[in-house]
Amino acid sequence: MSTKAFASQADLQDKQVSFTKLSDHAYAYTAEGDPNTGVVIGDNAVMVIDTQATPAMAQDVIRRIREVTDKPIKYVVLSHYHAVRVLGASAYQPEHIIASQDTYDLIVERGEADKASEIGRFPRLFRAVETIPPGLTWPTITFTGKMTLWLGKLEVQLLQLGRGHTKGDTVIWLPQERILFSGDLVEFDATPYAGDAYFRDWPKTLDNIAALQPAKLVPGRGAALITPEHVQAGLAGTKAFIEDVRAAVEEGVRAGKDLRAVYKETYARLQPKYGRWVIFDHCMPFDVTRCYDEVTQYPDPRIWTAERDRQMWETLEG
Ligand SMILES: [Zn+2]
Repeated sequence: MSTKAFASQADLQDKQVSFTKLSDHAYAYTAEGDPNTGVVIGDNAVMVIDTQATPAMAQDVIRRIREVTDKPIKYVVLSHYHAVRVLGASAYQPEHIIASQDTYDLIVERGEADKASEIGRFPRLFRAVETIPPGLTWPTITFTGKMTLWLGKLEVQLLQLGRGHTKGDTVIWLPQERILFSGDLVEFDATPYAGDAYFRDWPKTLDNIAALQPAKLVPGRGAALITPEHVQAGLAGTKAFIEDVRAAVEEGVRAGKDLRAVYKETYARLQPKYGRWVIFDHCMPFDVTRCYDEVTQYPDPRIWTAERDRQMWETLEG
C-alpha cells in the first residue's frame, strides 16, 4: 500500500473560477491552480487557448465568453499535448485547431497513453469524462517556430521559444498589448509538472519569454499575472523550482544513489520552499523520475502509461 494516495485521486475539492479581463482583447479563465484557459477576442473572431479537460467543462468557458462577446469562436490553440488541456476542444466547434508540429507529433506518438494516464491520475479534473468524444483532439493546422494570425487589426503570434514542459511548447503573444499566454511553461503558486520535461532547456526557454518583456502573463496554473513584477515573480519561481530539482537530482546521481533515494532527498530538500504550491505531492514523483532519466540515460521523456504511473508511485511512495 502506498502511504500517499496515488497522484491526485484524493483531491476532490472544487475550485473557484475567475474570468479576468486583461485588456479589451484578452481574458484569463483561472481556477485557483487548476488548468487555465486563455481567451483572445479579435475584430471578428475569438481564439481559445487550451480547452479544459472535457467538453462539459469547456461549456463553462463558453458561457463566460458569451458574457463578453458574441463573435464566433474560430480558433483553438493547444499550448501542448496534455489531455487536461486538449480533450475539451470539441465543445467549441472551432474552424481550426492549431498546434506546433512537435505537439502534433507527440499526440501521434503518445496521445492515447497520455489520455488514459491523466484521467487516472486526476479524476476531478475530468468532470463528466463521458462527454469526451472517442479518440483524440487532432490539430488541423500545424506550424514550426512561429506563426502569426491577424484577427482583424489584432496581431496574435504563436511562438516556440524552446523546449521545457514538453517538446512542443507554444506560447501565445499579443505584441501590441504585451500579453502572453504561457501554457505550463510558467506556473504561479502551483507546482510545475515536469514528467515530460526537458530540464536542461526549460530555464533558457523562460529567459526567452522574459526577453519579450510581457506586461501581463497567463500561466498554465495559478492566477493571471497582471503587472511586470508579478510576471517576473512567476518566471523566477518556475525557473528556481526546475533548477532546484535538477541540482538535487544531479547531486544524488553523482553520489551513485538510486531513484528512490534521490526522490526522498529531493522531496525533503524542496518541500520547505515549494510544499505550499498546489499539486506539490502529485508532481514530485513524476518530476524527479523524469529528471533522473534525463540526467542518466534518456534524453527524451519516456511515455507514461497508466501502468507505469502506478509502478513508479509504488516504487517511490510505497
Ligand atoms: Zn501540461
